[in-house]
Amino acid sequence: MTFKDLRITDTILKALDAEGYKNPTPIQEESIPILLRGKDLLGCAQTGTGKTAAFAIPILQHIFLDNRNHKGARKIKALIVTPTRELAIQIADSFTAYGKFTGIRNTVIFGGVKQGQQTQALRRGVDILVATPGRLLDLMGQGFISLKRIEYFVLDEADHMLDMGFIHDIRKVIAKLPEKRQSLFFSATMPKNIVKLSDTILNKPERVTIKPEQATAERVSQALYFVSKANKKKLLLHLLKTENFGSTLVFSRTKYGADKIVKVLKRAEINSEAIHGNKSQGARQRALGNFKAGRTKVLVATDIAARGIDVDELSHVINYDLPNVPETYVHRIGRTGRANASGIALSFCDSEEKPYLNSIQKLTGQKIPVLSDHPFVEISADVPVKKAENQKKSKGKKHYKKKKRFYSGKKR
Ligand code: AMP
Repeated sequence: MTFKDLRITDTILKALDAEGYKNPTPIQEESIPILLRGKDLLGCAQTGTGKTAAFAIPILQHIFLDNRNHKGARKIKALIVTPTRELAIQIADSFTAYGKFTGIRNTVIFGGVKQGQQTQALRRGVDILVATPGRLLDLMGQGFISLKRIEYFVLDEADHMLDMGFIHDIRKVIAKLPEKRQSLFFSATMPKNIVKLSDTILNKPERVTIKPEQATAERVSQALYFVSKANKKKLLLHLLKTENFGSTLVFSRTKYGADKIVKVLKRAEINSEAIHGNKSQGARQRALGNFKAGRTKVLVATDIAARGIDVDELSHVINYDLPNVPETYVHRIGRTGRANASGIALSFCDSEEKPYLNSIQKLTGQKIPVLSDHPFVEISADVPVKKAENQKKSKGKKHYKKKKRFYSGKKR
């Protein structure tokens, strides 16, 4: 399958070629025909699957073909709402890249910075607006943005929007949209509240699901280290010093934890920076720029700040902490192995995190291989809780105790 087979116009094909895209990814193959037919779409997919191009290409194509017939002042025809500034910037960059030869203009607005440049861009006129919810409402309130002419509306990463408490903002935006429009709704997970929200936005949608397992199982090599909480720092230093890693993204569950990891790495003279919600927008963009340019080898991030980090040459993802939401694990490891590349994801698991490990393995349907050739192996750690529980249930307490002794290496 090629993009030409998907009936993409030559003007956009040329841009995709310039981007080096040879074939559509599964989500693109499925979604583009639906969207070109003008249908609403409910997409269950995560970042890293090529989801941005899956919605950006058909929107660009619709507007491009329409603009040829109706010339006139630019009005915002497409609105993409996404939870973080990083994602917003990346989506806008994608529209710019794929729309390079179309003459279609986009701009991006997000909070945490002065609004001057953003309002100037809006005044000059844009066809496509990418926005985070807070700044969008703010500029709507000030009269800089009208949604009256919106024909295409995308709600991206809906589950994270809700996690971040944006539900009321989203409802306010939806209330201002014209009835007649094409709507797209993307979420990595589809719990009940998300489905309910999608019902208020979509009209007889077609559904496309790209299973997280596909993304993880097929592209990313995964491995697990059982290590005590206290030894995680040492293990990280050991790996970064002894293995030949390229650009490495380290995930920390908390902002405080991320700063602490950077301190430890800096002390060991490993070039690293942290990005998380407590850092200013400028500091986050700078850190990301340094990382992308290869000036910083290790970037330490929390989940929210890392959304949308798109670094082509990312060699390793390290889960310093295992996430308690299994889908987050899939999101994290999807940072490496982008599109068709392969990547490596390593996870540290202490004894308290074993239930998280079970949930992750259940979701992905894979058992992550355990690496024990490191100096900080936690003895007895490699009895998965589930296995132990099953043994306990099926063979009785006595047998379970025996097994436990065996796994922990203790003699009777
Ligand atoms: P996304 O899921 O939209 O964040 O995209 C993930 C990455 O895949 C981005 O770096 C895109 O530039 C890249 N990408 C998207 N579609 C394709 C494609 N058809 N071929 C190669 N790379 C792609």
